[in-house]
This record gives sequence, C-alpha cells and structure tokens, in this order.
Amino acid sequence: MSKSTARRVRMITDGEKTSDGAGVKMTRLIASHQLDMLDPFLLLDHFESDNPDDYIGGFPSHPHRGFETVTYMLAGNMRHKDSAGNEGVIGPHGVQWMTAGSGIIHSEMPEQSDGLMSGFQLWVNLPAKDKMTKPAYQELSGEQFTVEQLADGGHVRVIAGVTDCGTRGAVTNHYVHPLYLHVSLPAGSTFKQSIDPGHNAFVYVIEGSLAIGPDEKQLGARQLAVLQTHERDDHVSARSDDAPTEFLLVAGQPLNEPIARHGPFVMNTREEIMQAIDDFNNHRLVIDSE
Ligand code: MN
Repeated sequence: MSKSTARRVRMITDGEKTSDGAGVKMTRLIASHQLDMLDPFLLLDHFESDNPDDYIGGFPSHPHRGFETVTYMLAGNMRHKDSAGNEGVIGPHGVQWMTAGSGIIHSEMPEQSDGLMSGFQLWVNLPAKDKMTKPAYQELSGEQFTVEQLADGGHVRVIAGVTDCGTRGAVTNHYVHPLYLHVSLPAGSTFKQSIDPGHNAFVYVIEGSLAIGPDEKQLGARQLAVLQTHERDDHVSARSDDAPTEFLLVAGQPLNEPIARHGPFVMNTREEIMQAIDDFNNHRLVIDSE
C-alpha cells in the first residue's frame, strides 16, 4: 500500500479587486497578476456585496467558446439564460455548470434588487479535442447536492467529484474529473481528503482560518492557497483554528496543452481565437439548435 502524504502549500494569494460584466465588483483570485491560472482552472472570481450598486448590473449577454463556466452561489439569487435555450434561477448553494464548448451566448443577472449577493465563478478548461463539443448545461439547486456530515459536527457540500467517504457530487464532468467541495468545520477540527495523483488543487477560505499540510501553513479568510502537486497518492489535511471555518477545496486534472485566451474565448492557438472572434462577429459562434 502506498503511503499518502499531506500536500504542502505552494503559494498564497489574496487576489485582486476588479469588476466585470456590467460593473459587478469582485475579487479575482485566479486569472490575476499573482496567479495567471492553475491548469485546468482558468479563472476564479468571488463576488460578494450587500450593496446593490456593486452587483445590480450583472453579466449581460456575452459569448464563450472552448471551456466551462461554473457559478456557485452562497447568498442571493442569479438568473441564467443562454442561446441553447437554457434558463433558470439558482439561489444559495445552487450551481450552474455550463459547458460552452463550440459556442454559447449567455447572461447571468441578479434576481434581486437588494440584500446580500455572494458567490463564485470558476472557469474550467476543456481538452483541445473537446473544445468544440456541443454546448451543455447542468443546473442544480442547493437541495440537490448531498451534504456529508462529518464526525465532529462539520459538513461537506459535495458539488463535483467523490469524497473519501464515497459521497458523490451531483455535477458530472468527464473532461478534467474535477473535485469541488464546500467544507464547513467547527473550531479546532481536522479535515482530510485524498487528491488524485497529478491533479492540481487549491483551497479558498471563505471565513475562519486554516492550518494546512504537515507544516501547518496558515491560511486566512479570503485567501487562496495553491497546493503542491505530486504524481502519487496524496491528500489535503487542514485544521480549523479557533473559529468555525468554511472553505472551498477544488482539484482537477491538468491538461498541459497550449493556451490562447482572449476575453471570453479560451482556445489552444491564436488562429483558433481569431476564428472565434470572426465567428462571433458574423453570428456563426452559436449553432442554431432548431
Ligand atoms: Mn459568462
């Protein structure tokens, strides 16, 4: 039996304040100057505000090609609508996992005029051979996800992948075999989860703080830690400090393919980007589903 080691923290980032869409204020944690990407993850944004001016503009109609966009809400409600005919509203702990593939035009707009809105947008790259796949859309409410109870009173919302106890996330994804967990721990509690060999992984603390790995590296609220990647069995070990702690643990298989990105398009070559822009400008990005 192979010996599993606890992954160490490779780097920590606070991200950078930015805005996107029609003026939505957010912290960009991946796709920043400090952390360009973490293969296969191209971008991670945390939007959070109780001031409607910071989010009311939403993300009006815009295109994507070549990857997947994943929205996970913590608070508030967001309406998704796309050119493939999908439409729905997700509330707290709901997920929209959209495979843009060959091309989709969508909007994500707040379904509220005041109150707290908080959530994440993650971009997951597609392998070169699947970039032009048919667009797909998975929408799940918070109630549709299994919440695994931990022995010491904590719990894990399993969005994608499988926990060490065998709880499986409701999202299916065979492209990069992602693990996407939202973990809630009481104070002074330890959490352990295996990571597939070779998969890249990060931890983002929503609130509270963690000590990660064998050297108990400290990770505070609103910080993201990239973990070291090993080509062998290993796991994440994290202990909450003196306060209840919530964090995301996300991992996926790196693609190790060239990346050409331009705004909402992520392809492998500059020529493919030029093609995507040309297709969009000439209304060829979206294949009519009729
Ligand atoms: Mn989008």
